[in-house]
This record gives sequence, structure tokens and C-alpha cells, in this order.
Amino acid sequence: MTPAELVNPMLSLLYDKPMLLIVDDHVGSIQTLYEIFKEEYEVCVTMNGVEALDFCQKRQPHLILLDVAMPEMNGFEVCQALKSNPLTEAIPVIFVTADNDPFQEARGLDAGGADFITKPFHTRVVMARVHTQLTLRRQTDLLRSLVLIDDLTGVANRRHFDSMLEREWRRCARADSPLSLILIDVDFFKLYNDCYGHQAGDACLRAIASALSLVLKRPSDVIARYGGEEFVCLLPDTPIEGAERIASAMEVAVRCLGIPHEKSEALNVVTISLGVAVSVSTPGSSPAELLFCADLLLYKAKNAGRAQVKSQQL
Ligand code: GH3
Ligand code: MG
Ligand code: MG
Repeated sequence: MTPAELVNPMLSLLYDKPMLLIVDDHVGSIQTLYEIFKEEYEVCVTMNGVEALDFCQKRQPHLILLDVAMPEMNGFEVCQALKSNPLTEAIPVIFVTADNDPFQEARGLDAGGADFITKPFHTRVVMARVHTQLTLRRQTDLLRSLVLIDDLTGVANRRHFDSMLEREWRRCARADSPLSLILIDVDFFKLYNDCYGHQAGDACLRAIASALSLVLKRPSDVIARYGGEEFVCLLPDTPIEGAERIASAMEVAVRCLGIPHEKSEALNVVTISLGVAVSVSTPGSSPAELLFCADLLLYKAKNAGRAQVKSQQL
């Protein structure tokens, strides 16, 4: 996952008009809710549960106002389906009903609903409840992004990388698909800091992170700061030829930034060395082995003169 993809859901919630989805089979209710929200929100409408689920597969609203009593699929069933799908589970659902029976309300909350509003609508109450849920959602998204992103460079952090590695390792093993890992280390970076200062060093790491991110094109690719001046890249469903191509493009991208490094013993600009390990899901091997192998290959690249790629299939 690129940093932009990691952060974008949050940014869209912070800066765009939030998107509300109204799901109701009753035209009168839709009209009333539409009038309440049309100024402040982008309002979308579907008239039954199946259409609502279909809509949410394509676009994920920031909040759903969901009628309980609908033919075929009722609101509780729609909510359960949304909550059991990773793509839609975080969308807050507020149930809308004409029935203020506490048992119904309990059922809605059990189904994963965030709140309950009853008809007839009181505009201020409806607006306040929607506003509260969106504020909570915003805070959750912000916290989630802070936990997953490296402060200095804006790419994913080690914690996020570790969980992605576990997940992709299992997924690629199940699918019998190759998983590539690239370990990246900045060459002679201690000397860079000594020569240009720590702040220039930080700026250099930010420029490198951004250059590395731009090389990646697939949404499933992950670039993370592994620690210090090391980065790591995970390429699911990518065989060795593809991973070598990406690694070489990264080496070129950083070299072509042309950041002067007069103390470097490799070139007179900042460069990186890369170790590429590729696993084709052999039983008994593990993500730790993949990392270990990439580390050995990185060491080889350093010994061979730096500013280069070494790769191997496990
Ligand atoms: P090599 O080519 O063998 O990798 O040499 P190197 O100097 O890059 O490796 P070494 O591990 O000796 O030094 C890494 C340096 O990276 C040490 C530290 O000053 C610097 N560094 C690590 N994290 C940061 C950071 O967040 N900001 C800055 N400015 N420098 C950092
Ligand atoms: Mg290092
Ligand atoms: Mg280094």
C-alpha cells in the first residue's frame, strides 16, 4: 500500500464533503432526509438492501442511514452484511425506524448499528446524531493512520509492515503465488549526517521515501520504513523478474534524485543498496526466513560496492 492510499480515506473524510447513503423504500422519508442533509453532505440514495450492498462495494459512504423495515432484506440483515465485509465494516450505520420498541433498538445495536433514530424526524436531533458519528469516525481514522504511518517519511511504519507481511505471507501461500520482499539501505548514511547535519539527513530520508513510493504502481504493494535509514518493500503476487525490475527502478530513482554526497565511497550522490528475496511458498519456510534472506542479499550488495541490487529465490 502506498502512503497516499493509506492516508487518503482519512483525508477525504477531513476535507471533502462527507458522503451519506440513505437506504429507504419510502419516498417520503428519503425526501425529508435529503432536505436535511443536501447542503452539508453528498447524499446518495438506494431503495433496498441489495442495491445498498452493491453500492457500498463500489463506493464507500462515510455514513449510512438505514431503514429497518424494508421488503426482501431488512435493515438488520443489511447491517450484518456490511459489518462482515472488511471493505464496509468501518462505515457507521444509523438505523431509521418508525418503531421505537427497545427490543428493536437492541437488535439494531447487536447487528453492529451505531445509533437509532425514530420517525417522525426532528431535524436538529437527526443532524446532531449524524454529526456525532462522523466525528467519531474521523477520530478513529486519524488514530488508525497515526498508528500505521512513520512520522518522518509518511510511508507505512514497521508495525504496519509486520502485520502486512504476516497477512500477505498466508494469502500468497494459500494462493500458491510468489511473494517478494526488498530490503533497502541508504549507503554511507552516517557519513552523510556527519557531513551535512542531521536535519539534512532527515530531509534526505523523506526524499528517498517519496522516490521509492513513486516506483510502486499496484495498490497491494507496500513500502515501509523499517528503521533508521532502512526501508522495506513487500510485493505480493510478484515473481523474481518483476521484483528485480522494481528494485532496479528504485535504485535508479534514488540515484537520479541527485542529492550530493561528497563523502560517499560509492558515487558522489546519495545511493541505496537493495536485497531482493522471493518466496514461492515452500512448506516450512516463514516470513522471518524471507527477511533473513533479503538481509543477507543486502549485505552482499553492500560488499559488492553498494548502489546495486542482489536477488535470490528461496
Ligand atoms: P552502509 O553503507 O554500510 O549502510 O553505511 P551507513 O553509514 O549507512 O550505515 P550505518 O548503519 O553505520 O549508519 C546508519 C546511519 O543512519 C546512522 C544514523 O546516523 C543514520 N540514521 C538513522 N536513522 C536516522 C534518522 O532518522 N535521521 C537521520 N538524519 N539519520 C538517521
Ligand atoms: Mg543500516
Ligand atoms: Mg546504511
